[in-house]
Amino acid sequence: MPAVHPTLAAEVRELLGSLGVDAALHTGGSLPVTSPITGEEIGRVVEHETEEAEAAIERAHAAFKIWRTVPPPKRGELVRLLGEELRAAKPALGRLVTLEVGKIASEGQGEVQEMIDICDFAVGLSRQLYGLTIATERPGHRMMETWHPLGVTGIISAFNFPVAVWSWNAALAFVCGNSVVWKPSEKTPLTALAVSALVARAVARFRAGGGEAPDGLLELVIGARQIGEILVSDERVPVVSATGSTAMGRVVGPKLARRFARAILELGGNNAAIVCPSADFDLALRAIAFSAIGTAGQRCTSLRRLFVHDSIYDTLVTRLRRAYGSVTIGDPSKPDTLVGPLIDKAAFDAMQRALQAARDAGGTVTGGGRVNVPGCEGGFYVAPALVEMPSQAGPVVEETFAPILYVMRYTKFEVALKLNNAVPQGLSSSVFTNDLSEAELFVSAVGSDCGIANVNIGPSGAEIGGAFGGEKETGGGREAGSDSWKAYMRRATNTINYSKSLPLAQGVRFDV
Ligand code: NAD
Repeated sequence: MPAVHPTLAAEVRELLGSLGVDAALHTGGSLPVTSPITGEEIGRVVEHETEEAEAAIERAHAAFKIWRTVPPPKRGELVRLLGEELRAAKPALGRLVTLEVGKIASEGQGEVQEMIDICDFAVGLSRQLYGLTIATERPGHRMMETWHPLGVTGIISAFNFPVAVWSWNAALAFVCGNSVVWKPSEKTPLTALAVSALVARAVARFRAGGGEAPDGLLELVIGARQIGEILVSDERVPVVSATGSTAMGRVVGPKLARRFARAILELGGNNAAIVCPSADFDLALRAIAFSAIGTAGQRCTSLRRLFVHDSIYDTLVTRLRRAYGSVTIGDPSKPDTLVGPLIDKAAFDAMQRALQAARDAGGTVTGGGRVNVPGCEGGFYVAPALVEMPSQAGPVVEETFAPILYVMRYTKFEVALKLNNAVPQGLSSSVFTNDLSEAELFVSAVGSDCGIANVNIGPSGAEIGGAFGGEKETGGGREAGSDSWKAYMRRATNTINYSKSLPLAQGVRFDV
């Protein structure tokens, strides 16, 4: 059992208290929460039993029946208030993200900013849940489509974006007229408790302003995967958005399919970038360094594979090595730190296994070892690894959730493009080039097969305005911006006959 870190634990209690979380929920429970900063305990959260999770789903189901009748712009008002609560809570919640996940301060704060941004987006959306009016072949008829609330939205989230991913789904679900049951990662229940308290504050203000918000709009269910499985199996939950590893999606996807529920699967990535001879070198270098090293390689969009044109390979790799050597690794609470810890020992072990497999496959590894950070001896800090590989083989085709960048040479752009696509995952990708034909080819129908394909910007760090998600083993789900909201609603096609005759479609005659 990990020792308690008295200072960090006290800070967590104070932060949660300031955000309105009942201390009984995170002290004395059965689920220990450790901070990756020191590997020590910072809280003990109360877990839910099966019956409690089922009761939570029932409450959310009852809430849905009321919430769906509230006009969408009014539902938007609740999300606007939530955005206000998040703005006020940004310093505290961002700090909690740092304490619970080990993100550096700007990334902890940035995660909350992303929540605020999606709330703003959802507020606007609440007046734009448009359906089409469709030309009909029958005189005296009108055809249209309407979008209706779908039901309880299940959200299963991963540790690495403990709160932003929830908001991408929940802000849309709320304006779409759905209630939400959220199963956060068992590694990050504290930030989930904080968000739940902020939603309660927004609901209270909404009610004080005369709005009708039922109890049960957001239900939190805390526990390991068994609790997630309850959400996945329950008929009262018609849509589940599940973010995590491909291994999780392989279990969750078929279970949802079996009961014809909708799945929004946001799974693992193995993201690549191609650096062409015409690329802006300095820009590419900075983008690569941020995408590969940032968040200690623990973003689903982190850069993991780099294809560099033979003519610039040696120069680029030399400069990359220098950049890798210059990053400050350490306590994410310190202002000059760029790389914080891995989430836990299991992540460190997985990284070491991948590096050994890379060596076995002929790779040359620079970095990758454990870094001792004074005062944080129980944390798993690593030097980001740069691995020159002779080919795309072995661990290169798998996602290892750690800062490992596999670098490979190419001579023909078409071959690099093919290699970009030659992995089972399909989340994010980039090309660095000033050659228009390469850029256009990359984003064309025969270009990158990923859900995100960028030009002259790294693969990591998406904006909420676009639809986020990926293909193949990344699961095919889309969330956040664009028309992702449609996944949280059901579409009805309506034909209205305002004539006195009954013309049948396709000229069919049926005179009785
Ligand atoms: P994980 O798969 O271990 O867990 C994710 C969540 O799924 C947790 O809440 C877990 O309890 C739950 N879960 C696991 N098995 C389940 C089951 N059988 N039924 C129901 N719930 C289950 O992932 P993690 O280690 O927390 O996160 C890292 C992974 O998430 C990486 O693979 C990363 O690429 C991926 N990720 C993807 C995206 C995306 O948008 N594509 C975003 C963030 C993270």
